[in-house]
Amino acid sequence: MKAMVLTKIAPIETHPLKLMSIDKPSIKGGSDLLLEIEACGVCRSNLHLIEGDWKKYGVPSRLPLVPGHEVVGVVKATGDRVRNIELGERVGIQPHFRSCLKCEYFLAGRENLCENAEITGETVQGGYAEFIIANEQFVTPIPDSIDSEHAAPLFCPGITAYKAVKAAEPAAGKSVGIFGIGGVGHLAIQIAKLYGSRVVATSRSKNHIELAKKLGADNVVVFQNPQGQFLKQLAKDEGLLDSAIVFAPSDKAIDAAIKSVKKGGIVVIGVLGSISEFPTFDEKIIKGSVIGSRKDMADLVQLARDSDLKVVIETQKLEEANNVLKRLKKSEVEARAVLVP
Ligand SMILES: [Zn+2]
Ligand SMILES: [Zn+2]
Repeated sequence: MKAMVLTKIAPIETHPLKLMSIDKPSIKGGSDLLLEIEACGVCRSNLHLIEGDWKKYGVPSRLPLVPGHEVVGVVKATGDRVRNIELGERVGIQPHFRSCLKCEYFLAGRENLCENAEITGETVQGGYAEFIIANEQFVTPIPDSIDSEHAAPLFCPGITAYKAVKAAEPAAGKSVGIFGIGGVGHLAIQIAKLYGSRVVATSRSKNHIELAKKLGADNVVVFQNPQGQFLKQLAKDEGLLDSAIVFAPSDKAIDAAIKSVKKGGIVVIGVLGSISEFPTFDEKIIKGSVIGSRKDMADLVQLARDSDLKVVIETQKLEEANNVLKRLKKSEVEARAVLVP
């Protein structure tokens, strides 16, 4: 099969992903599914992995590697213990490929926190290819009304946005700030609106600001340095917010978000970064958020089916992966690029 393979960590400008013909994966375990891939989203974390930014976290743990962790495909073969998924069914795989099925996190329905999890496109082969093996217990069926290209981003930015928005406790009469409007933020804006919140979006990219307005943000405040200018504008327009969610990978954005919420307010951080100053006596609540559980995934797919949630995508050929990632690095992708084999 055709795949874009990473053999060596290198800057994306040197086109480290090579188009190769590799063996089609085969069913090994009883719960395995063989999927013929129809779409795979291109994520900023793929870029971090390829360029070696996450070597300190042991990522990637193997080379050569097929990256890609928001994957939709059609089931072409099943292991002998598969009961709930049928041949021909269309399903999605999220970054959380599989967990240990026995730790306290798994038993509490928080399997995204499992310490012995497999990660799609990191510890197991991912979706920049024509076929992939998935696990029956960790895939989510996709309704016919959502095509594969629009479904794929639900499986990483979608679930990331959904879980973080829920953690921010959105409600009618409450305001929520969304810091960073890309693949994740553009969905978070819409999901927070579905809960009836007033949504204040912020970004430094002009394209993203236009996108936020188009998707129904109640207000858009341009993020700028120095931060004081931004906070002043926000105070003038909105006062302090009930909650804020950070998807912009920047310590400055995290700091600004903490300063943007009321005393006792909630700040949800969905990126790696550090907190420079924590105002203890303001009793603010800081929560981390990472992807989500299988239940979150199924709930989000249902929400996407039953609402007018718009997944903003551009479709590109699998072979274009290097070029797409280069554009992502320069913030030239409007919301989400999706590779089609
Ligand atoms: Zn991702
Ligand atoms: Zn576990």
